[in-house]
Order: sequence, then C-alpha cells, then structure tokens
Amino acid sequence: MSKKNLVETVTTQVTMIRVLSPTVFVLRLERNDFKFLPGQYVKLGFPGDFDMREYSVYSGLQDDFLELLIKEVKGGDMSPRFRKLRKGDTVILKGPLGSFIVREKDLNKRFLFVGSGTGIAPLHCFVKSYPGIDYRLIYGVRWSEELYDPESYQPSRLVRCISGEKTEHYHGRVTDYLLRNRVAPDTLCYVCGNSDMICDVYDILGDHGLPPDNLHSEVYF
Ligand SMILES: Cc1cc2nc3c(=O)[nH]c(=O)nc-3n(C[C@H](O)[C@H](O)[C@H](O)COP(=O)(O)OP(=O)(O)OC[C@H]3O[C@@H](n4cnc5c(N)ncnc54)[C@H](O)[C@@H]3O)c2cc1C
Repeated sequence: MSKKNLVETVTTQVTMIRVLSPTVFVLRLERNDFKFLPGQYVKLGFPGDFDMREYSVYSGLQDDFLELLIKEVKGGDMSPRFRKLRKGDTVILKGPLGSFIVREKDLNKRFLFVGSGTGIAPLHCFVKSYPGIDYRLIYGVRWSEELYDPESYQPSRLVRCISGEKTEHYHGRVTDYLLRNRVAPDTLCYVCGNSDMICDVYDILGDHGLPPDNLHSEVYF
C-alpha cells in the first residue's frame, strides 16, 4: 500500500453515470488494473485532446470500478463536456497523482476529515477504502441537497454543516463549526476544497494547537 504506483496514461470506458444534482454527477469508469492510493487524483480527458482536468478518486480501493465525483462548472472549458459523457464513451485517464494520502503506519490514529462541496471526493475514498478508520467528517455545503451519499458515512462520525438554510443539522460553514468545537492536537487532519476554506481551517486548527505536520490538504481551486 505504501508502494508508489507508476503514473500511466490509459484509455478506458464510461460504464455508468449517476446524476446527484443538476450540476454534480458520478462518472463510473472501467478500472481494469488501474492502481492508486486512497486520496490520489487522476487527470481526465478525451482521446486526441491535449486538455485534461484533475479529479480525485471517489470510489474505494477495493472497488473493481473507478468513480469520479464531478461538478459541472458554469462557463468551464472541460466539465460541461464531461457532463455530456454517456455509457460506452471513451476517455483518457492519467494517474495516479498527488500526495494527499494516509501513511499506512498512521491508519490506527484519530482523523479529522474536512471537505466542502466536491472536496468530499477523496474523503469518501478514505472512508470506503479504510473501513476501520477512526474518523470524524465535517462536510460543508450551502444547501442540504448538495450533501452527496451521506449514507456512506457512519451517522455518529458525520457532521453536516449547511450554510445556506436552516435544517436539523449544523447551520453554518465548516469553519464556524471548528471555531466552536475543539480538535485534539494529536488528530491527523485532511482538508479538501477551495483554497480560502483550507487557509481558514489551517488557521483555526493551528489555534487549537495542531502542529503543521498533522495538517494535509488538497486544493481544488
Ligand atoms: C488535485 C485536484 C483535484 C480535483 N478534484 C476534483 C473533484 O474530485 N471534483 C470536481 O468537481 N473538481 C475537482 N477539481 C477541479 C477540476 O479539476 C476542474 O478545475 C473543474 O472541473 C473545472 O474545470 P473546467 O474545465 O470546467 O473549468 P475551467 O475552464 O478550467 O475553469 C473555470 C473556473 O472554475 C473554477 N472551479 C474549479 N472547480 C470548481 C468548483 N468545484 N466549484 C466552483 N468553481 C470551480 C476555477 O477556479 C476556474 O476559475 C480538482 C482540482 C484539483 C487541482
């Protein structure tokens, strides 16, 4: 598991599209023997096209398929094209890439996962890949319908932070929640989403006494 997997470029097929909202979908691809470590990402593109975009692996290590959670960004160059993919279409994958991974020797430690929007993708992969892991997930979205696949997480480990509407869940951003709920300094934290959120979370966790070595992030934009 700690072995580095070689970066390769492969051609593969779409086997399923799962639509989660008007803009977000899960693209399921034939995995063949594509290797990755939980938390890593791939570059996705079209045959004969130079442009590619990065997507964290959403599915688990043990799954015989590869899933990516993709948001169609309005006005974006590539994601609206990915949204048009259909079962049987061919795509190009390059990977695995990235170092947002959990070291094998740390798997018995206590984890805090913080994700906003599609930044949930690598955290979902961690939870699916490491079923015995001791984690708490702080999952931030604006609207409750943007909270994808909540049944993937043990209810007692999931904190839903919903900023745009009042529900039975925490009303506010992940940063509001973390300001009011201390995190033990020996926790390993994995934070994924936009850069502003990640910077704010780092500041708050630093104030809680977490050393920089315990903080890991994947910046999407
Ligand atoms: C390591 C890494 C992993 C990533 N993993 C994922 C993932 O799992 N799922 C996913 O949906 N995206 C992910 N992204 C973002 C993705 O690579 C693209 O940037 C995104 O799909 C937009 O591509 P585009 O060509 O449509 O837009 P572009 O034409 O490239 O850019 C348009 C604008 O969209 C902004 N943008 C990018 N992503 C978002 C977003 N989610 N919400 C709002 N604005 C955004 C960019 O800042 C840019 O200003 C990841 C990015 C990185 C660097």
